[in-house]
Amino acid sequence: MSSPAAPHRDLSRLCIHTATTKPWPVETAMEKYAAAGVTGITVWRDALEGRQPARVGEQIRACGLEVVSLCRGGFFPSTTEAGRQQAIDDNRRAIEQAAALGAPLVVLVCGAALGQSLECSRSQIIDGIAAILPDAEAAGVKLGIEPLHPMYADDRSAINTMAQAHAACDRLDHPLVGIAVDVYHVWWDDTLPAQIALAGETGRLFAFHICDWLTPTRHLLTDRGLMGEGCIDLRGIRAQVEAAGFQGHHEVEIFSTRWWESDQDAYLAQITAAYLDHA
Ligand code: ZN
Repeated sequence: MSSPAAPHRDLSRLCIHTATTKPWPVETAMEKYAAAGVTGITVWRDALEGRQPARVGEQIRACGLEVVSLCRGGFFPSTTEAGRQQAIDDNRRAIEQAAALGAPLVVLVCGAALGQSLECSRSQIIDGIAAILPDAEAAGVKLGIEPLHPMYADDRSAINTMAQAHAACDRLDHPLVGIAVDVYHVWWDDTLPAQIALAGETGRLFAFHICDWLTPTRHLLTDRGLMGEGCIDLRGIRAQVEAAGFQGHHEVEIFSTRWWESDQDAYLAQITAAYLDHA
């Protein structure tokens, strides 16, 4: 007989990004995640170095895990034509890798280039995604635009809000283009509930990433918190994405020098506990 707390003891929708346990090679990560009861894995491209993506996909499925997505593509803007073409070529490779791996989605950190306006970068992002859409169609791979926190607007992404991500989706108007909601980037936005609801209505809610926001944040890239360590209303945002019809995985994506330096087995145990307790 199940206890009233049973729905909260469920790991069946928990996915972990390989970058979260970066010290582990992907083979170790998949075995450890599966043994911990995690059901999904998002593979970062650096984890595929020196490996055949198709083989890694087979290994992951043999462990009983689902490949949730490939991270990441994007970085379309550049002040030079050659730079923009290079980005398009690299995104085509990412789509190929995702298809070989069996990942249904490539997450896009869209990019921004110093020396030009954010508006110009946004326009180059649209052009870049439009250029790779035929590849995505041929491979049957979705593209998830991840709005990044405004602190990254200088050189990582000119798409910083859900509204901007929706505007990009409107321009591209394609069923394979949607949004990856990462709580770290959008938790502060007072329009978030409405934007998440809109993403549900428009069929654009492709992915849900979780972690926490630390105070103080000591590094812009590598000081994310484990769920429950910070100030993000994780349960509240989860309720919003579920109310919007999202039934995919809850993906733990934590870049943290502090956690990477710790014992990764103990850390994995803390991730599953923190997920159950706080997310
Ligand atoms: Zn993310």
